Amino acid sequence: MIAGVIAPVTRRLTNRLNIRARLVFLCLAVATPVLLMSMVTLWAAIYGPLGHDWLILMLMLAACAFGLSVVLAFRFAYHFTGPINELVREALSIGRGDLHKRVKLESGDEFGLLSRAFNQMAANLELNREHKLMVEKISNSIRQSLDLDEILNTAVSELGKALSASRCCIAIINANGPSDLCAEQLVFDYVWWDPARAGAPLKNRSIVMTDESMLKTIMEQGTILSMDVLSASDTVPLFEDSQRNPEDWSSIRSLMACPITMNEQTLGLIMVHQCDERHTWIDPELEMVDSVAAHVALAMNKAYLYKRTKALADQQLLINHIVRAVRGSLNLDTILNTVTSELGDALVADRCQIALPSSEGPLVVSHEFHCVSFASMIGSNIYGYKPEFEPDVAPVPTNTVLGIDLARLSEFAGIESSNTLKDAPVAVIQNALTDDRTIPFRAFLTTIGSQSLIAAPLLNEDRLLGVLMVHQCRNQQRLWKSEEVGLVAAVADQVSIAISHAQLFAQVRQQAITDGLTGLYNHVYLKNRLERELRRAQRKAAPCSLLMIDLDKLKFINDTFGHPVGDAAIRQVSWALQNQLRSGDTAARYGGEEFAVILPETPLAEAVLIAGRLCRQVNSTPVPGLGAVSVSIGAAAFPEQAGDLKELIEKADKALYVAKRCGRNQVRAYEVDDCGKQAPDSHFPTVDFRQD
Ligand code: GH3
Ligand code: MG
Repeated sequence: MIAGVIAPVTRRLTNRLNIRARLVFLCLAVATPVLLMSMVTLWAAIYGPLGHDWLILMLMLAACAFGLSVVLAFRFAYHFTGPINELVREALSIGRGDLHKRVKLESGDEFGLLSRAFNQMAANLELNREHKLMVEKISNSIRQSLDLDEILNTAVSELGKALSASRCCIAIINANGPSDLCAEQLVFDYVWWDPARAGAPLKNRSIVMTDESMLKTIMEQGTILSMDVLSASDTVPLFEDSQRNPEDWSSIRSLMACPITMNEQTLGLIMVHQCDERHTWIDPELEMVDSVAAHVALAMNKAYLYKRTKALADQQLLINHIVRAVRGSLNLDTILNTVTSELGDALVADRCQIALPSSEGPLVVSHEFHCVSFASMIGSNIYGYKPEFEPDVAPVPTNTVLGIDLARLSEFAGIESSNTLKDAPVAVIQNALTDDRTIPFRAFLTTIGSQSLIAAPLLNEDRLLGVLMVHQCRNQQRLWKSEEVGLVAAVADQVSIAISHAQLFAQVRQQAITDGLTGLYNHVYLKNRLERELRRAQRKAAPCSLLMIDLDKLKFINDTFGHPVGDAAIRQVSWALQNQLRSGDTAARYGGEEFAVILPETPLAEAVLIAGRLCRQVNSTPVPGLGAVSVSIGAAAFPEQAGDLKELIEKADKALYVAKRCGRNQVRAYEVDDCGKQAPDSHFPTVDFRQD
């Protein structure tokens, strides 16, 4: 029965003890009654056999001793195992993930040390978990956003909060993409601060970096820096410009600085400041900053990649737009205006110009896009205002612009050169005022205020059609990016095609209205022009005369001297016409050996005088291998003699017929009477070319 009562009690008691404590407990519980029994037995052996009462007394004493020893053993064991149990309990709850738990044992013995170790471990685990959460948050923000500003702002605030920092800031070296570490100052554009921990925004967000700068060293080496014993009087090279903004930097007691690097390229710097107290940065904190730096580097890389891809897509769109403009229009002006404005816009350039050869010089600005604050430079010769362009004699570099050999300029091309213009490079110039390639047109660049430029030759085969230029005029020089140069080169190709097409189109159109033998306008053009001139004459109520001219005895010339001589005679007449006529007059080859001349705002009498001069000019200019030739001319005037085009031509023709009938080499004005009276000074002596 006793065993039945004791057993559960001892089991309950011993269950609360660990193995070692149970052993101690067992030893004490067994040893105490055994010792007591041994003492009784020894006592009986010395003083004789014991009576019944004595035996009962002894047994009772042994039972009391046993009970006492159990209690004592339990107390004794609990004294040792209590802290251990506490430790185990807390360790188990820490293990289950309850990281806020701490062991509350502050004794100076081994248990105290052990509990402090446990607490430290729990704190580290907690920090690790926070670290993971924070990094996860940052990487989520990276995954969800392509906006670098948003990512970096999240990074500084999360990192600052996780480290209980006063301030956390990030500076990036080149917002447009990775570059060498050439920046002389770091600008902390992303700043988070906690006023509760003496944090404050930076008044001056930039740090000047010199060669001795510690920041520069760690950025070059890619290593993390932690300082935890700074005082206001510390003169660390880190704060070289502390005089400029002392309150920003002198308040820092501890700091961590971690470079953001990717593929051994430095992209920026993370700084964590502790301003209210000195803080000894522990390894997990350093690791956390390092890991955030790695994530930020990834994000920046991704954002740059996205930015570049987007820029490429935008460029592709722009090129497509330009290609469509080139295909959709034959109006070169429209195309070139579209190109300059779209390209200038896409590159955020201050000026975008196209310079083409013109009568004013080899390269004259013909189309331009410019910012509103700038004056237009259209019509400016890029060699200055008094160009002396002599490609045959000018020495290099005056003969070379931006690497383009000017001796090969379209119509000026006349000398042999080993380089073809196909190889002419796109000139990418960062400093327009010191680069040798700009020497020939430095005055022009100074006038327009160009600091940096890209100039691409416009080429058709190896013929230079012009130059496409993009200028940065305001602020400082511009470091052109390779994709910008690629865009200018691609656009230049399209512009070259547009100019070639337009030139070809102009050539074809000219051919369509020009007579091949004489270079005069042809029949089709004459009809259209006459129609226009008559309409204008009608509008202005002014006269308009028409001369029909026919070479005399061409059949005979052909038959006697051959067709080439006949052709020469036709050309001779056309030359005389071009030589004698005013700029507003139009001469055309009407048929085989027949010509027509439109004389706007000219009454019949004046037309007859002009015709007389033409006859004399033809008479006085001998045809090589033939001698002098003559023409017969019929004149009619609108509106006094004819009401429309058809009638005017008919009447001028009739007058010509009369001139032929009346002996050739003479001028006849249309008269109602078929062989009417002769116009004054219109009959010339017969030219007998057979005598020459
Ligand atoms: P008329 O003084 O009456 O005009 O006599 P004609 O011989 O000039 O006139 P006709 O109409 O009898 O002959 C015109 C000739 O002009 C016939 C044709 O062979 C010649 N002809 C037409 N076009 C050309 C050309 O482009 N070149 C040459 N060489 N001859 C041409
Ligand atoms: Mg004839």
